[in-house]
Amino acid sequence: MRRALDLLLPPTCAGCGTEGAPLCERCLVPLGRRRDEPPGVPVGLLEPLPPGIVQLEWCASFTGPVRDAVHALKYRGERRLAGPLGAALAARWARAGRGGDLLVPVPVHPSRRRERGFDQAEDLARACGRVSGLPMHTALVRVHRTTAQHGLGRASRAANLGGAFGVEPRSATAVRGRWVVLIDDVTTTGATLAECAAALHATGVLAVSALTVARER
Ligand SMILES: [Zn+2]
Repeated sequence: MRRALDLLLPPTCAGCGTEGAPLCERCLVPLGRRRDEPPGVPVGLLEPLPPGIVQLEWCASFTGPVRDAVHALKYRGERRLAGPLGAALAARWARAGRGGDLLVPVPVHPSRRRERGFDQAEDLARACGRVSGLPMHTALVRVHRTTAQHGLGRASRAANLGGAFGVEPRSATAVRGRWVVLIDDVTTTGATLAECAAALHATGVLAVSALTVARER
């Protein structure tokens, strides 16, 4: 109810609190910082791609207004942020994306979705699809509720996630033979993306790429 009322009020910027837009012009700037970077892993980033992923692209570092915006979407239910964040995803993919014909959001567990009333990655994928023209399909399901990844080390993150995702049986034919672009808000070690990729590859997709709003290091 409170959230429903919030949506009737003019939005305030998640980054600086200015009234008028969910993310003001000034706080939008960092979100587009990597937009025109060439595709691929930048020099100085030694980490390999997550297993099963052919391309990983992201819009910005997980700091400042970008971090504020992701948190406001996820934890405060400010769903109007999906618009600008999804547009940033589409802009980055238009510049750097190779292949890809279907957007698939990384899902939260159904119980968490019920608590929040929405799934932030699904909102992001839908908004990205509106701009990019790529169709969105909610093909993945989180089959067990994992401990929050925050605060776990790399090995614990992978173990925490083992077998956490599956492809919805009704979606198998929709993804088989397709090049999937996974959509998520933030990636850190890529363990979540790798788990999603494993589930998709087991169903016979052509390839899996990944596109996130932010990258945390
Ligand atoms: Zn602002």
